[in-house]
Amino acid sequence: MESKLYQSPVFDMACQQFDLAADILQLEDNLRNRTKYPKRCVAVAFPLKRDDGSIQMLEGYRVQHHLSRGPTKGGVRFHPEVTLGEVGALAMWMSWKTALAGLPYGGAKGGVTVDPTTLSMGEKERVSRRFMQEMIPFVGPNTDVMAPDMGTTPQIMAWMMDTYSNIVGSSTPAIVTGKPVEIGGSQGRVEATGRGVAYLVKRYLETYGVKQGQASVVIQGFGNVGSHAALGLVDYGCKVIAISDVTGAFYNQNGIDVHEAVRYQDAHGTLEGYDGGDKISNEEMLELDCTVLIPAALAQVITKQNAPKLKCRFLAEAANGPTTVEADQIMEERDDIQVIPDILCNAGGVIVSYFEWVQDISSLYWERDEVLRRLFEILERARYEVEAQRERLGISRRMAALSLGIERVALAKSVRGIFP
Ligand code: NAD
Repeated sequence: MESKLYQSPVFDMACQQFDLAADILQLEDNLRNRTKYPKRCVAVAFPLKRDDGSIQMLEGYRVQHHLSRGPTKGGVRFHPEVTLGEVGALAMWMSWKTALAGLPYGGAKGGVTVDPTTLSMGEKERVSRRFMQEMIPFVGPNTDVMAPDMGTTPQIMAWMMDTYSNIVGSSTPAIVTGKPVEIGGSQGRVEATGRGVAYLVKRYLETYGVKQGQASVVIQGFGNVGSHAALGLVDYGCKVIAISDVTGAFYNQNGIDVHEAVRYQDAHGTLEGYDGGDKISNEEMLELDCTVLIPAALAQVITKQNAPKLKCRFLAEAANGPTTVEADQIMEERDDIQVIPDILCNAGGVIVSYFEWVQDISSLYWERDEVLRRLFEILERARYEVEAQRERLGISRRMAALSLGIERVALAKSVRGIFP
């Protein structure tokens, strides 16, 4: 079977990765096709009433990749370049990620093709509520649970939860995760993805004998994930020498004051005008000499063009799909960069989302320390399993992580059988 529905460069990339891992697993054809393509999707068009009275039509998507291990789970992205294909690829990666972490979920993803930086708070609220309303026949706390991703925030999750609850007639916190704690969000969720990235970077530095105090870090994207990864790494003693966002990149060899940068961003909305470092281009930033490079923004930023020029020792993939398949091959040939693949590196977000969902369902809430302790425990187990798989099969860390995730989904499908 060839699916044309999701055709796009990012979906092609997710399929190529799947095929490589399925070859390693020697997955037979029937199971391979059942495991590969998303189960279902919804595409909607809806009107947004702008503050100036004009009406703008927006498109939104939700893709549910598979339901064989439990309800589907995945973020919602507000970004001008969102396409059905990109959302489909992100849903596939969520499936392998949740299976790798041992969570009882399938993968999903959603998105609205809109630039959130051009919207007022009122406009963002209207987009969020309308998108959730359009999705109601398709989602539910036992069917598909949304969360924040690029361009979406805890406040947006609160509006979505409120919309769903109003329409079904009872408060339903478990319909989304990444909510504010006041309405059933989990302690530690806001920082979970970034803290998880920082934890794994620390563990790999230890494994390879690099002292944290000697590690320099470059981070592309200073949103939720990038900024919390930076704060976590500074806590571990690392030096962040460059950060960037959509407005530009900033370099300071002596170390960026990350706390000050976060305060600047909170006050101004972006890093534009930040003077704690010299302005450099995005390309220059990715090619800086550093210990750890962390892409924490878009997919496909490490390409066959820049992969040969990278000067990092570790590539910690906080973003989803930041490295193309061609760039991966170059890195394997170079053999001097340790790649911490996305589905392991950024799994902290969905792990704590799972904790949030469990807390909402049981109406029993945990302290932050307990959340972080359990988060690091799961990350450590996943890391151990990836390293064991890598050694056992003599494959890259990405293929080890993907093959573990894919195998678990395929096994669930095989055990459940085909209905009817
Ligand atoms: P965010 O919206 O909070 O931040 C995104 C950041 O990327 C912003 O600083 C933005 O300015 C920057 N950015 C956008 N376009 C850019 C460009 N062209 N060049 C440089 N920077 C650019 O989003 P986030 O939640 O931090 O997500 C970042 C990445 O992490 C995404 O790939 C997302 O899928 C992934 N991720 C997020 C979570 C989560 O819990 N939020 C979990 C797992 C993975």
